[in-house]
Amino acid sequence: MDLIARLREVVGADSVKVGDDVPRRNWQDEAGLPPVAPVALLVPRTVEELAAALAICHAVGQPVVTQGGLTGLAGGARPAEGEVALSTEKLVGVEEIDPSAGTLTALAGTPLEVIQKAAEAAGFMCGIDLGARGSCTIGGNVATNAGGNQVMRYGMTRRNVLGLEVVLADGQIVRSLNKMMKNNAGYDWTQLFIGSEGTLGVVTRVVLALHPLPRGILSALLAVNDTESGIRALRRLEQTIPAGLLTFEAMWHEFYEIATGTFRVIAPLERGRELYILVADAVVAQSSRERAGLWALRESVYDYKREFGPTVGFDISIPLDRMADAIAAYRVAIPAAFPGALWVAFGHLADSNIHLQVVPRPWTPETAKAVDRLVYSEATRLGGSVSAEHGIGTLKRPYLALTRTPPELALMATVKQALDPKAILNRGRVL
Ligand SMILES: Cc1cc2nc3c(=O)[nH]c(=O)nc-3n(C[C@H](O)[C@H](O)[C@H](O)COP(=O)(O)OP(=O)(O)OC[C@H]3O[C@@H](n4cnc5c(N)ncnc54)[C@H](O)[C@@H]3O)c2cc1C
Repeated sequence: MDLIARLREVVGADSVKVGDDVPRRNWQDEAGLPPVAPVALLVPRTVEELAAALAICHAVGQPVVTQGGLTGLAGGARPAEGEVALSTEKLVGVEEIDPSAGTLTALAGTPLEVIQKAAEAAGFMCGIDLGARGSCTIGGNVATNAGGNQVMRYGMTRRNVLGLEVVLADGQIVRSLNKMMKNNAGYDWTQLFIGSEGTLGVVTRVVLALHPLPRGILSALLAVNDTESGIRALRRLEQTIPAGLLTFEAMWHEFYEIATGTFRVIAPLERGRELYILVADAVVAQSSRERAGLWALRESVYDYKREFGPTVGFDISIPLDRMADAIAAYRVAIPAAFPGALWVAFGHLADSNIHLQVVPRPWTPETAKAVDRLVYSEATRLGGSVSAEHGIGTLKRPYLALTRTPPELALMATVKQALDPKAILNRGRVL
């Protein structure tokens, strides 16, 4: 019996799509790489079906790519030639909210926004929030260890996860739906899967630690004359706000000018300063319209592709004491290497994480690669990382060794070999 027939036997004929029945959306993620049709799309309805399908793929060495909400920016969920795509789109639902433990348990394909709303309805707050909240899934957030807008107070996804259920490459289901804050019984294997970008197993259930729901959120915009003043403001605010800041989002002046010029977002503060910072503190109430107005500045970045065509995007981290040097270096090096290029810097300054968007003119795959090389070599020269939060996927694989040492890479390869010896899961991603 051929592979497709065997898969249909375990997950049902309507859960294995081939040819024209595979929707175009499953051909790519948000990384902007050319779309590739998978040999088949699996949409199992239960974890057991998913496990059975994976066992079959493992037995014959069939490579599989896992797909959540397909909002990833590193090319990890886009199929490679010859891969079966395994979607979690039917593994959806918040299964439990435990008010005593302050936890929420959900299936991996549940959209983040559904989880946020369920937590709020129960009087809690989900610590994870990002711009793709309506489409990304909690399984994808775990697989990428997503960061986002609230990392300052609640940490990255890793810090919000108490328990996991995963399916290993050979179809074994491993479960630790732990709801306790403390559980030091042996290795915490769940942490290994967080941020592994689907290369070690498929996440199927997640237990999240929830947080008290803030009474309101106060947002403010600051403008300062240099990056160092921005970092000093961060440290001062941290000392004066007892519960800690929720957000500290930076927009350097090039970004602010495009937001308030090209995109006509109302400028709450005059232009001409070096750095604008969107600060949010989850204690004092404020009108949601005012808050939305300030966030419109930051979210103007989602219109870049439509306005300027393809961009080269980055999510690098830079040690905070080198941040001003990094901005100064990019401000000189990018226009010098790519005359006429548009570039902006913005991002989660308090987390040492900045995003750059560069539009070389003309944009070609070669110029895009040259921009990559320039940005990554500068970031690593300053002691930073090639990925702060979006992950390595396929896009950043050539640059991983700039950030990780040979012994670290060897350790990662050992873990991969132990858990997925036939390398069927997300082959060619990360390592
Ligand atoms: C508008 C926008 C804003 C964004 N903002 C942020 C941000 O602020 N911070 C941030 O960190 N990211 C951000 N992202 C990137 C993206 O949303 C995150 O990486 C998100 O966590 C991906 O979730 P997903 O369900 O869409 O995963 P997908 O894109 O489907 O997959 C991403 C990776 O995870 C793997 N994967 C997915 N589901 C599973 C699973 N159940 N088990 C194992 N592996 C799996 C895939 O194989 C792939 O390698 C943004 C993206 C967009 C489009």
